[in-house]
Amino acid sequence: METEYAKIGLKVGLEIHQQLNTQTKLFCSCPPALFKEEPEITFLRRLRPTQSELGQVDPAAFFEFQKGIKIQYEANKATSCLVEMDEEPPHPLNMAAVEVVLTAALMMNMQPIDEVHVMRKTVIDGSNTTGFQRTCIIASNGWIKIGEKTIPIQAASLEEDAARKTGTQDDGKIICYRIDRLGIPLIEVATAPVIHSPIEAQEVALAIGRILRDTGKVMRGLGTIRQDLNVSLPNGALIEIKGVQELELISKVVEYEIQRQLKLIQVKEKLQKKGAKAEALKKQFIDVSEVFKQTKCKVIHKALAKDQKVLAVKLPKFGDVLKSELMPGFRVGTELSDRARFWGRVGGIFHTDEMPAHGVTAEEVEVLRKVVGATEEDAVVFVADTAENVLDALKAVVERAQEAIEGVPAETRTAKDDGTTRYMRPRPGAARMYPETDIPPSVITGALVEKIRANLPEPIEKKLERLMKEYRLNVKLASQIANSEYSTLFESIVKQSSIPSTTVSVFLTETLKALRRDGVQVEKVTDDQITEIFRGVGSGEIVKEALADVFTWLSENESKNLQDAVDALGLKMFSKEELEKLVDRVIEENSSSVDQLGEKTFGMLMGLVMKEVRGKAEPELVSALLKERLR
Ligand SMILES: [Zn+2]
Repeated sequence: METEYAKIGLKVGLEIHQQLNTQTKLFCSCPPALFKEEPEITFLRRLRPTQSELGQVDPAAFFEFQKGIKIQYEANKATSCLVEMDEEPPHPLNMAAVEVVLTAALMMNMQPIDEVHVMRKTVIDGSNTTGFQRTCIIASNGWIKIGEKTIPIQAASLEEDAARKTGTQDDGKIICYRIDRLGIPLIEVATAPVIHSPIEAQEVALAIGRILRDTGKVMRGLGTIRQDLNVSLPNGALIEIKGVQELELISKVVEYEIQRQLKLIQVKEKLQKKGAKAEALKKQFIDVSEVFKQTKCKVIHKALAKDQKVLAVKLPKFGDVLKSELMPGFRVGTELSDRARFWGRVGGIFHTDEMPAHGVTAEEVEVLRKVVGATEEDAVVFVADTAENVLDALKAVVERAQEAIEGVPAETRTAKDDGTTRYMRPRPGAARMYPETDIPPSVITGALVEKIRANLPEPIEKKLERLMKEYRLNVKLASQIANSEYSTLFESIVKQSSIPSTTVSVFLTETLKALRRDGVQVEKVTDDQITEIFRGVGSGEIVKEALADVFTWLSENESKNLQDAVDALGLKMFSKEELEKLVDRVIEENSSSVDQLGEKTFGMLMGLVMKEVRGKAEPELVSALLKERLR
């Protein structure tokens, strides 16, 4: 497989973004935290295209600007201040965050730079109140080893995270962003495009992810780490894939992207063989509303009832091409549809390759073909929406079809949970960085670098060996803990309690993995809470069988403690006195059997008592009390 990918000339570069768990945000003293409640403050801004130094305007931003898109920002006072709202200049760079990046950089054999210069990077989607993202390079030119291969690490940067999109209002004319996430420090690690197979991409990402975790200063849970992939094939294109949230998904995403590009190359060859020409694809749109006057198609019927239109365009020689599958559940038609959604704000498109379907009859398709002058060799795409949206949508469809004759268009795509990708936006132009004049440069002194170098976390091989020796873990458990985000916590719990290290390690790896699979939001439970749960087991407040239940309850009930969980779950342990009373009662209730059989009734009585106290008393204690009383 490896050689096959090398043969087709695959090149992958990674950009890994991970939120840092520092006390404050990057340019103000707000905590790096999100809020769930209703916002205390909202404000509306118009999306304006930001001019780069060269005076180029990003086409996508300009397009949105023309459409009068507005942004509504949502905030609360606990997680943002005037800095996030762009009403006050940024404060000096958070040096604690710089130190975390330096730590990771030195672990990746990088060269720290002498002076940190904050730059502005244009963003086009309103996710920053300023219209740009602040970023600064901290170190460059390093490497890590993956097996025998050396992977060059180009740069480690510090960036501010963007606001998070929470939805749209007013038919998509207002986009809502929450600015709690804006300004949370992110480390960005970029590799050179030297990765040549999907599995290698994943291995590199996992290795970098582990190094970042080993700094002990990164956030945990879904959404705190995001990977961008640059995937290119020599006969295809450079595709930027954004937002892969799970490291384990990377090889699948790369595989699907290779598949998509190879299939698009086949589509190009097929189209050229059929004599398809880009010039023959015309932006001539025909009103076919009449054709669907009596339609049973719900979407079209609804649109026509609202006085909207159905417009169609002929794609000469595209018959049977739109149904070609590029990725699982994703066809050439989906490529056209994604463009229509983005540029035309429509729900999707209809095309003849999938007809008859969606309530559209064969007869309607026949009339449609006649009206637009299409033969079986051609495809017809039609869309129902407002006239303005339909025109934008069909223009985008024709442009995408023209690109299909050329091959694979370079673009930015976004990753889905199943590993497939969808069109996100055009590739932004180059030269989008310019200096941030509000923040003076920070100096990275040799003394600071040496201090950090002297305190680097231990490398993974050493750690593995130490965990096995110090905590008597077998190699499997040691490796699971060493690779887990809970390795520091594991050591701290074992050191301060009498609980066997295997119990703690199995819980922190296998049990939490199983809980996560069952939908428990594991990352909601803090290190302090986990420590408290184990302290409870050690002191006999709860039995070890109750660990998972208490953990799950705490994940669902934020800012509660062990005592609350014990009360809510009815886990209060029986005191010795209470147990004695209970044992006496059970013996009393069964006095005739006891009189006849004496100590032979132990098994039956033990069962009766345990039925009442399971999870709330240690069986050893019950057994001892019962034996004593029976005697
Ligand atoms: Zn702030």
